[in-house]
Amino acid sequence: MMFEALKSGRQEPVPSPEDLSHINGYLEGAPPEEILQWAVDTYGEELALSASFGGPEGMALLDMLSRITNEVTVLTIDTGFLFQETIEFREEVMRHYKLPLEILRTELTIEEQVERYGEQMRTCSPDTCCQVRKIQPLEKALKRYDAWMTGIRREQTPQRADTPIVAWDGRFGAAKIAPFAFVKEDWIHEYVAEHDVPVNPLLHKGYKSIGCEPQTRPVAPDEDPRAGRWSGTEKTECGLHWVGGQVQRADA
Ligand code: SF4
Repeated sequence: MMFEALKSGRQEPVPSPEDLSHINGYLEGAPPEEILQWAVDTYGEELALSASFGGPEGMALLDMLSRITNEVTVLTIDTGFLFQETIEFREEVMRHYKLPLEILRTELTIEEQVERYGEQMRTCSPDTCCQVRKIQPLEKALKRYDAWMTGIRREQTPQRADTPIVAWDGRFGAAKIAPFAFVKEDWIHEYVAEHDVPVNPLLHKGYKSIGCEPQTRPVAPDEDPRAGRWSGTEKTECGLHWVGGQVQRADA
């Protein structure tokens, strides 16, 4: 019954704060494999996995999911500004994993984007460019799913520190599941090594968090892993995981 309440999707009312609190109490601290199994059992083919093919978290999640099912769709956003290495890695990896892949793109070419919003939109120009090239395509795709899963972890950024395992993402009209929310970085590295999970080759070249090429630089060993993203600006998140300081919940 608790699961049915959460499987609210697009037609039913959003889950209540009590439902979310109940399920989060149940899943907090559970092995991530069990959280994934719960998500697959609860949402079935109405569940999607969002992966950027940049960090090890998304790859660990993809690997773990592939051991449970081949029927959950992997959504990935191609902004048109990705590293060539990321594109080639994505293609190679998805020949190995059998999950269906859906590549999300805006309908605007970069030239059309420049024409509409100005010359600064030719390279990385947060926030409008992220809105057009990341958020809107994901918003459109998630209209077809009841829940989406992501590899974000609480310790990655202050904005992610309160990430629940299951939340209602009101902006996208879907439940948002973060099976690695409480997991530590070492655990991810151990999983990747133990299961021989492929990772983006740029991670071996000094990059620790990989997004669009114009906003990503390698970081020094003692730097924060995400210091290379939007370096020199105030921006730390593209907005997929952060709206007004927190994920929107049912009572937001
Ligand atoms: S990270 Fe930069 S280049 Fe990529 S979508 Fe956002 S603003 Fe555009």
